[in-house]
Parts: sequence; structure tokens; C-alpha cells
Amino acid sequence: MTLEGHMLDVLVIGAGQAGLVFAWQLRDAPLRLQLVDRAHRIGDSWRHRYDSLVLFSPRSLSALPGLPFPGEPEGYPTKDEAAEYLDAYARTFRLPVRLGTEVRRLWKEEGLFHAETDGGERLVARAVVLAAGAFQEPVVPGAARELSPEVVQLTAATYRNPRQLPAGRILVVGDGATGRQVAYELAREREVWLATGRRRVVAPQRLLGRDGFWWLLRLGVMRWSRESAPGRLLRRLDPFPGPHLRLRRLRRQGIRVAGRLREARGRRVVFADGRSTEVDGVLWAAGYRERNDWVDIPAAKDETGRLLERRGVTPVPGLYFVGRDWLWTRGSAVLLGVHRDAAYVARKLVDALTSGTARRGARTAAAQKGRGEGIQGCVAPYQTS
Ligand SMILES: Cc1cc2nc3c(=O)[nH]c(=O)nc-3n(C[C@H](O)[C@H](O)[C@H](O)COP(=O)(O)OP(=O)(O)OC[C@H]3O[C@@H](n4cnc5c(N)ncnc54)[C@H](O)[C@@H]3O)c2cc1C
Repeated sequence: MTLEGHMLDVLVIGAGQAGLVFAWQLRDAPLRLQLVDRAHRIGDSWRHRYDSLVLFSPRSLSALPGLPFPGEPEGYPTKDEAAEYLDAYARTFRLPVRLGTEVRRLWKEEGLFHAETDGGERLVARAVVLAAGAFQEPVVPGAARELSPEVVQLTAATYRNPRQLPAGRILVVGDGATGRQVAYELAREREVWLATGRRRVVAPQRLLGRDGFWWLLRLGVMRWSRESAPGRLLRRLDPFPGPHLRLRRLRRQGIRVAGRLREARGRRVVFADGRSTEVDGVLWAAGYRERNDWVDIPAAKDETGRLLERRGVTPVPGLYFVGRDWLWTRGSAVLLGVHRDAAYVARKLVDALTSGTARRGARTAAAQKGRGEGIQGCVAPYQTS
């Protein structure tokens, strides 16, 4: 179905958990809202992650508002369960998602947003919500170019399972949660070296019979904002759960824990602690960067090209954000916290977009949670995959 020529009130770019839960907030609002996503199935960003990925929060804490996460509440869901759950979420609330639609360029002209899609269509909207993901493009350091073509190189985004890597010695670069998990998995059948970065804090998965996140929610830690002193500290420490991921445990597993990767040449890699070795494969797990070159709105960016926002509200009227890492709190880019930012941004957007009676109606609708049959006037409800 074409949207060309339809004036939307709200265009949401990205239909992952952030875009979906944002649309859920506005499901009863009298707004013409449309989500678009370049993926062909809802949940694909989860589906395409490495095979052994299990979420760090139990099902009871991983649900978005309005729909329980199926399965044993205290168990930890697989990444495919997360994908199916999001698909069910979109169907349950008949959220208006159009898949297979990538926004190639977004700009603002005479007070309206224009989005050009890969199909050559132009969508026009009064407001836009960027929900295109916090962990979009893996960071691959320049050293990757110095490695010999014989060395197989994967990233945290292209790695699925150990079969993709050759027998022999594998270097994992980056010791965040992903790097450590993959190193742990590879160490069962390979010689693994792990290049570490800054000091990391590993938290217990469970405490006194409860999941660690249950305690963080209970104690209000998940509400600490990025602007508060404890929030800034938490952000700097960036702890992740998994006692088996402590460096001591990884060493016991046979993993060679080295310093920061300093240089690479041919098959040889050199670490900041002076050690060096030859490798057959490298997995880059050194973090992610945002890709926003398609957002052609200079006033929304700083001098480095990074999009500006405060709690999801950008300096450009009508342009919003959800689902960015630490958009506001530790929960901003994860399943158990994204809905809080979505609710805040939805309120801001409704206030900005509506006036008089329309504003009152939309506000009431946005406040009515747990009821309603979807967004009135939406363009194309998502039904089945
Ligand atoms: C390896 C890994 C493990 C994680 N583990 C957990 C975990 O255990 N628990 C947890 O809660 N969180 C976890 N997260 C964090 C977070 O929950 C996920 O990254 C989640 O996918 C974020 O959802 P999102 O909606 O913000 O972004 P995404 O899921 O990335 O969705 C963004 C969507 O936008 C679409 N898109 C992007 N650009 C465009 C465009 N120009 N036009 C159209 N569509 C576009 C993409 O196709 C995508 O579907 C993990 C993240 C990673 C990377």
C-alpha cells in the first residue's frame, strides 16, 4: 500500500521494541501514525543476533506494557523468543507497521518532515520519532585493515556461532557483555584471547532469590537519570550481569586475557601489556555506533554529527528520539525500561502537536493504558507475519 500523498501526524522510523512501545502509547490517540522498518519481520534485530544469546532479564521483567511475556516468568528468554514476542506485540495491538521500508533521507521543509524511502516514495509528517536502534553499527578499529586476508574477521553483528570461525586461535576484541559471552562460548573448542578495554563491573545475576534487575527496579536505580550524580556514576561503571563472565572465571576457562589491542599486522596482534600472538580469526566486539547520516537536518546535530536530544526531545520542533542508550536512564535502551521514555516522549509530542479539544482528546487517549483497540486513523495495521 502506498502512503505517498498521505499527510501523517507522526512517522516512527524503526519498529523494534522502542518504536512499538512508543506507538502503543498513542494507540488510541486521534493521530495518523505510521511506523516503518527496513526489516521484513518484526523482531529481526533480535532474530539476527548470535545463536546462543539469552536475555539478561527474566521474562517477568522483559515484557512491554500491556502484554505479558509468555513462558516461565523467572526463566530467561532466548533472543528468538524476544523476536516472537515483539511480533505478537505488534499484532495484538494492531500497530500500524509497514515493513520492508527503509528511510534513506529525512529532512524538514516548511515545517513538515519529508522521508524518502528506498522504494522512492516520499512520506510527509508533522512529527517524526527516531526509533532506529541504539546499537546499529559495530565499531571496527582501523587495525582490522592491517590483518592478513587469511585471518577471518567477524563483528558482534555478523557472528552467529563458532562454526563461522576457523579452528585455531581466535582473538575477541572488547570485553563488554557480548565480547565476554562470545569468548566464553568459543573457549569450549578454540584457543581464545580476549583483548580488554576499560575496567568493567560484573554484577550478580540473582540475589536473595531475585533477579538483579528486580532489585535495581525496586531500589529505584533504573530511574536514575543521566544528569543525576548516581546516574552518571552508574553510566561510567556500566555493570552487566553474569558471574561466569568475570575475568577470573574466564581465565579459569582457559581464555588468555590480554590488555588493549595496540596493533595488528598480518596474522600478528600486539597488546598494550606487551604480549603478542598470531591469530586465525578475530571477532570485533568493541561497541556500537549510531548511524544517522540519513538524517539530513543540520539543526538536530552537533559539530561531530551526533544527534542532539534531551530525554528524547531534540532541538528541532517535532523531532523526537526513543531507544537510545542512556537516553535518560540505564533502562532507556533495554526491554524493561524503554516504555518509560516512550511515555514521556509521547506526552511531549502530543502536547506539541495538538491544541484545544484535539489536545485534550489525545492526552486522555495517551493516558488510557491497558484498553483500546489501536490507533484511530492509522494507515495500515500490522496483522500477521
Ligand atoms: C548483542 C546485544 C545483546 C542485547 N541483550 C539485551 C538483553 O539481554 N536485554 C535487553 O533488554 N536488551 C538487550 N540489548 C539491548 C536492546 O534491548 C536491543 O538492542 C534492542 O534491539 C533495542 O531495541 P530498539 O527498538 O531500540 O532498536 P532495534 O531493535 O535495533 O530496532 C530498530 C529498528 O529500526 C530499523 N531501522 C533502522 N534504521 C532504519 C531506517 N533508516 N529506515 C527504516 N528502518 C530503520 C531497524 O531495521 C530495526 O528494526 C542487547 C543489544 C545487543 C546489541
